[in-house]
Amino acid sequence: MSAPDRPAVLLRGAWVMAPEPVRDGAVAVVGDRIAAVGPYAELAAAYPGADVHGGEHDIVCPGFVNTHGHFSEGLITGIASQHTLVEWLDALIAPVKLHTTPEVARLGTLVAGIQMLRSGITTANDMFVTGTGPEPVTPAVVEALDELRLRGVVSYGAGDADTGDPAAELAEHDALREAAAGSDLCTFRLGMGSMLSHSPALLEQAVAYAVDGGHGVHVHLQEVREEVTRMRVTTGRTSVEHAAHVGLFEAPTLAAHCVWTDRRDRELMAEHRVGVAHNPLANGILASGIAPVAELRQLGVDVGFGVDGAASNDAQDFLQAIKTGALLARVRDLQATAMTAREAFEIATIGGARALRMEDEIGSIEVGKKADLVLLDGSGPTLANVHEPYQAVVFVAGSREVAEVWVDGLPSVLGGDVVTVDPVEVAERSRPVARRLVTEAGLGHLSALAGAV
Ligand SMILES: [Zn+2]
Repeated sequence: MSAPDRPAVLLRGAWVMAPEPVRDGAVAVVGDRIAAVGPYAELAAAYPGADVHGGEHDIVCPGFVNTHGHFSEGLITGIASQHTLVEWLDALIAPVKLHTTPEVARLGTLVAGIQMLRSGITTANDMFVTGTGPEPVTPAVVEALDELRLRGVVSYGAGDADTGDPAAELAEHDALREAAAGSDLCTFRLGMGSMLSHSPALLEQAVAYAVDGGHGVHVHLQEVREEVTRMRVTTGRTSVEHAAHVGLFEAPTLAAHCVWTDRRDRELMAEHRVGVAHNPLANGILASGIAPVAELRQLGVDVGFGVDGAASNDAQDFLQAIKTGALLARVRDLQATAMTAREAFEIATIGGARALRMEDEIGSIEVGKKADLVLLDGSGPTLANVHEPYQAVVFVAGSREVAEVWVDGLPSVLGGDVVTVDPVEVAERSRPVARRLVTEAGLGHLSALAGAV
């Protein structure tokens, strides 16, 4: 059935979290779009034949926008967290990426994507990190996202610093771009592992690829002090300054982390409308620091939350990321007003959409936007008494309250679980592949699974 022919659906809640929340409200979904938002009684009368999901105690939220992650880490969760970033890249990511096959990509995306959907994520901005081999690996990410019905912004985390082969990096970008072009739910961005991972030749080609091709960019920027120091030593500029200098920011750019930015960096990002992905959990596990979210937002920089990769977070639970983001801001400033629940909610939804320049399509419950929606179950004890809805979502709800997730007007989660794949079967299929991955990567000193093939 094509999208406009499907019967209308109403998602009903005690609260509909539109830009101004609607009490005892509903959202009407027609096809892939939000057709109406208002009091439930009015919408029930206007759409008499509609299927009604949710109920009088539930909360309807916009789908959460995960602005940064790595499906390439889907099978290496809960490993090597004793390291800070540079050590961790060397100990874990570098060996694993050489053994990352399309099967690893597909299963890693399914394993992580199921967790994302179960926590209310409807859009995932991914950067897949892999070595380049005889066949492209990253198109398997698109296949898995389509299978899950999870909206994706997909990129390949390129870098030729180790290989000296820029052409192989560009070929992987091409393969992923072509795969995304064949998907209804995925769009392509040009990914860059970091400014440091790019030779001057590849950097120049990456800028041209993004700017001339009209593609967005997804890059790690100034996550740790070591990056800033090395960039200053080699170029005389910070990564942000160098990116601006070489014209990278002429393309719509999403920068992950930006923990170690100074005022000049932040002003440059604001000037070029660079969006920022704030990853409070990964920044905590790798002890990278606390991003200056308030300072960025004061300058008008669009900030979203990210779960980051399954190897550096390690859970793929967006509600944990939202709560931790709000708490870190408060602990940093020792002020309970440093980030309100409403601000955290907005960062998690429309803030992330703006950071990805997708705010015209997703990120809020408004008529005409894509029907990407989350229904939180209010029938149980957790949300039994909602005194203030933003605080209920940000500080009270957990992923077990995520009852339904709708992407592009269709359900991807019903009854608390994904509908298009069997999660237990995915877990079972992932086990031998994960064991083989850590064994081939020589990670016996880090993983109890290595050598157990
Ligand atoms: Zn990352």
